[in-house]
Amino acid sequence: MEIKHLVLGRLRTNCYIVIKDNKCIIIDPGDEAEKIISACEDLEVEEILVTHHHWDHILALEKLETFYHLKHNSFLKKSFTYEVIPTPGHASDLLTFYFKDDKIMFTGDFLFYHTIGRCDLETSNIDDMINSLNKISQYPDDIKIYPGHGKSSILGEEKKYFATYFKDK
Ligand SMILES: [Zn+2]
Repeated sequence: MEIKHLVLGRLRTNCYIVIKDNKCIIIDPGDEAEKIISACEDLEVEEILVTHHHWDHILALEKLETFYHLKHNSFLKKSFTYEVIPTPGHASDLLTFYFKDDKIMFTGDFLFYHTIGRCDLETSNIDDMINSLNKISQYPDDIKIYPGHGKSSILGEEKKYFATYFKDK
């Protein structure tokens, strides 16, 4: 499995193209649809996945759904195997996508390099965030994390920080 990484739009949102055998999944089409389409030029786009529906993750979504005749988050799992893990907190609809065979997780704005998503937005909930961190703690340390913004990380590395986020709770 190969991962192409695009940084798109005003908030520099990470868009990932997960590729295997000339087939691919687009994760978080944040903006600049034409850049995504050209990055997928020689590939068969099987799915579009969205970690959550904040505007900076979906500005190009409508264009791509029309272009590829796909509805996002249909979880077709044609050529790819992955687990959909609800990880609310930053947003109530936040989903983490876990590609177990390749030990890769796409965490959206749930989990970043050395920090977590803010929990003061419209559908945020701190208790949900704590539950989501506890849930994700059960997964193996050697999973690579690809977040919605900024650089990637390793889950085991991030787990060290989990206790510090809510030390006053
Ligand atoms: Zn967000």
